[in-house]
Amino acid sequence: MGSERVGDMSATGSRTGHVVVIGAGIAGLAAAHRLLGRSARVTVLEAADRVGGKLLPGEIAGVRVDLGAESMLARRPEAVALAREVGLDGRLQPPATASASIWTRGALRPMPKGHVMGVPGTAAALAGVLSEEGLARIERDADLPRTEVGDDVAVGEYVAARLGREVVDRLVEPLLGGVYAGDAYRISMRSAVPQLFQAARTHASLTEGVREIQAKAAAGQQTGPVFMGIEGGVGTLPLAVAGSVRARGGEILTGTPATELRVEAAGGWRIAAGERVLHADAVVVAVPAPAAARLLREESPQAAAELAAVEYASMALVTLAYRRRGLTLPEGSGFLVPPVDGRTIKASTFASHKWGWIAEEDPDVLVLRTSVGRHGETEILQRDDAALVDVSRHDLREATGLDAEPLATRVTRWTDGLPQYPVGHHARVARIREHVARLPGLAVCGAQYDGVGIPACIASAYAAADQLDGDLSGIRALAANPVHSLHGGAGE
Ligand SMILES: Cc1cc2nc3c(=O)[nH]c(=O)nc-3n(C[C@H](O)[C@H](O)[C@H](O)COP(=O)(O)OP(=O)(O)OC[C@H]3O[C@@H](n4cnc5c(N)ncnc54)[C@H](O)[C@@H]3O)c2cc1C
Repeated sequence: MGSERVGDMSATGSRTGHVVVIGAGIAGLAAAHRLLGRSARVTVLEAADRVGGKLLPGEIAGVRVDLGAESMLARRPEAVALAREVGLDGRLQPPATASASIWTRGALRPMPKGHVMGVPGTAAALAGVLSEEGLARIERDADLPRTEVGDDVAVGEYVAARLGREVVDRLVEPLLGGVYAGDAYRISMRSAVPQLFQAARTHASLTEGVREIQAKAAAGQQTGPVFMGIEGGVGTLPLAVAGSVRARGGEILTGTPATELRVEAAGGWRIAAGERVLHADAVVVAVPAPAAARLLREESPQAAAELAAVEYASMALVTLAYRRRGLTLPEGSGFLVPPVDGRTIKASTFASHKWGWIAEEDPDVLVLRTSVGRHGETEILQRDDAALVDVSRHDLREATGLDAEPLATRVTRWTDGLPQYPVGHHARVARIREHVARLPGLAVCGAQYDGVGIPACIASAYAAADQLDGDLSGIRALAANPVHSLHGGAGE
């Protein structure tokens, strides 16, 4: 086994401290990017033969598409700002249409506006989607006594108690499912929809709380698109961040899974990765929870046990390309499907409608995608690719009338793609962070902590980098005084 002291002080001059980042998904890459900005030396280890994790650019029928995540929330700054920093400013593109539908009660119905994750400020806001009884049930919210939420509560449980199950089943569930591929009756309101949790703590009536959220948003006059894409795909973001990391002297080693993480006797960290052994002053663990649990089990068995308990949902995306001529598709960016309606697909994105750049790639080709698979739903994902294409075509035909033969199809499986945030998730994350904080020079980040969306993953990466900055300052102070040696000094 080779042993590399990549962060040797004498070789790096003022660039003191070597940080190894494990995982080159968007979180690991964003952490590396931030750390390089503070002149630490950075090595990123990635198990796969490519960077990006759940962000994956691809192609179908000669048209570039995203085969993983495809859209970034722009109402928080991190993702769009990072894209700009790495030179993608000119390629940022908002969706071409903001209208979408919900396939429920036998028809595609316009997605209501004026709700917070499906929870309306008034019953009227959901007219057209809910039955008359469902709408009438919402009105009772104003008269019901307060529903206690305690330290956390499942979104579905609380909203159903206030407004009735129909709001949950037809709206909250498919909207939350679009983000977490999870179950609204298990997902934590505190972690997944914190504005609603806050409203539930301060208001007896949920609709009143939602109206206040909406009034504040209107007063804040948040302008600009809510979401943003990138020409060529959101999947090009990690490639650009990786390019920037390398251009600034960072090293990214793909096909290099970290297999062991140990504290060195003299301080610092020893990372085994296949044939290599690396020594680092600090480590960022930016891999999904099961992999993080394996890496931390020796040095922090408590954090490892908490991480091993994080559950994941698997899903598959079916991308279909059609010859556009003669095809008619409903307006808008696509539709969501409430599980209660008993269909197989859970959503469809009309990619050529939603993204101008996809439409322009080849005006003769129309690209759609569907998604299948939710937390706990294992049967559907055991079917082969051809069967997933068949169910997608069947449901698309039922929903939109689209009956043409596709030019090309692609199935992308995301096994354990999305961490679940059940009730109590925030407390689990706090415990993990507490255990991790006991080990100097260790930080964690990624989708399983503070949010699964791209901006939240980047924010967790920046927090990890900031946390290590304190440790690295100590190292810089030591470096200024050559009497002391850095983590083991010579001889490694
Ligand atoms: C199908 C799908 C669609 C999505 N759509 C959207 C969307 O439109 N918008 C949005 O904001 N979010 C979306 N998300 C969520 C978002 O994409 C992810 O939560 C986010 O990209 C996760 O980033 P990450 O860096 O935390 O983890 P990952 O992307 O999982 O990256 C972790 C990396 O660590 C590597 N790794 C694992 N073990 C090791 C090891 N031992 N050593 C070295 N490397 C290792 C992995 O190979 C991987 O590259 C979607 C997720 C999925 C699955």
